[in-house]
Amino acid sequence: MNTGQRKEIHALHYRSGKPMKITVAGNRFESIEAASDEPAGMNSPPEALPMVGPGLVDLQINGYMGIDFNHYPVSPRHLSDATRLLQLAGVTSYYPTVTTSSDEYIEDSLKAIAAACSTDAECADSIAGIHLEGPFISPEDGARGAHLARYTKAPDWELLQRWQDAAKGKIRIVTMSPEWPGSTAFIEKCKLNGITVSIGHTSASPEQIREAAAAGARMSTHLGNGAHLMLPRHPNYIWEQLADDSLHACLIPDGFHVPLSFLKVVLKVKGPLAMLVSDAVSLSGLPPGAYRSHGRIDVIKTEQGRLHLADQPQLLAGSAQLLPWGIDHLARSGVCSLADAWDMSSIRPAAFMDLPSQAGLEAGAPADFVLFHWTGEQVHIRKTFKNGMERSG
Ligand SMILES: [Zn+2]
Repeated sequence: MNTGQRKEIHALHYRSGKPMKITVAGNRFESIEAASDEPAGMNSPPEALPMVGPGLVDLQINGYMGIDFNHYPVSPRHLSDATRLLQLAGVTSYYPTVTTSSDEYIEDSLKAIAAACSTDAECADSIAGIHLEGPFISPEDGARGAHLARYTKAPDWELLQRWQDAAKGKIRIVTMSPEWPGSTAFIEKCKLNGITVSIGHTSASPEQIREAAAAGARMSTHLGNGAHLMLPRHPNYIWEQLADDSLHACLIPDGFHVPLSFLKVVLKVKGPLAMLVSDAVSLSGLPPGAYRSHGRIDVIKTEQGRLHLADQPQLLAGSAQLLPWGIDHLARSGVCSLADAWDMSSIRPAAFMDLPSQAGLEAGAPADFVLFHWTGEQVHIRKTFKNGMERSG
């Protein structure tokens, strides 16, 4: 344990590129200041220094390195392992995402996550909340994505309360579709109880989208995905969410889920309201090859990092990439700067969820940060610090 120790780190600030001296005391940044001189004991030129950025915050992730947060039975041990592995990948806070399933399976996953947080301090620190994606989503093909239609249902506050009890209050985000009757009252109750409602997997009318936002929905889940293959040119639910200034937009920037032009448009339209998520499935982190997903679906992970159904290569089987991959994709393609892509994956989602790490690289803020190298093409994570403690592989 190195809690309480003071440490000094020299690195290039991810925004300015300037050498910085970062002092960490215990679990917080004590100071972050420009390093005028060569750091003591280091003969290497400043360009050999790693870059430093705030820890990554993933609002939507279904699993990693073969660990599936939705594959019954989920054990707290799975969450502990995933938390440590994600830290090595630069993720200091995340929202394990529980997707549409039977009521019992959902409850089982929620209980396992809550149990992990009560027994494992690392999980308690890194799991900022649970994202419940479904089952209150559209049953329609396309809109529901890979969620099973038979488990989709109208929003049910009593049921959500039961699940929130099972989750020991950790459900912080609910993705739902406001196409169902009773959506407005449901959204209002969520808001009153501190649960962020995100619109996703929807076939809602533009009017229903507007009503949901007025009732308190604050976010769009992976905008552009979980949508019908064909939509009326206008009006439709994508335009409506793009146009709504009260809705933050989450995007899957893996290069496969939406084209670069769509990412570019959303970033332009949403500006500071745009955020990145991985939406990574359990096969993320594993090498290319043929796999069986959820114990029943044959999938292929290609050399290029795309995950598709084995018998229908045109259909994606989820994202197989974490946030750094998406940062690479956006920065490499010039859609935005590395620093902006990093912010959309760190302090912006942290601020959206009002996490203390929203302060980023500031004195007094939690010392959640990542040392990395940027090749111009790719981010290489070197070390991650969570609450001032070093994580490295
Ligand atoms: Zn989804």
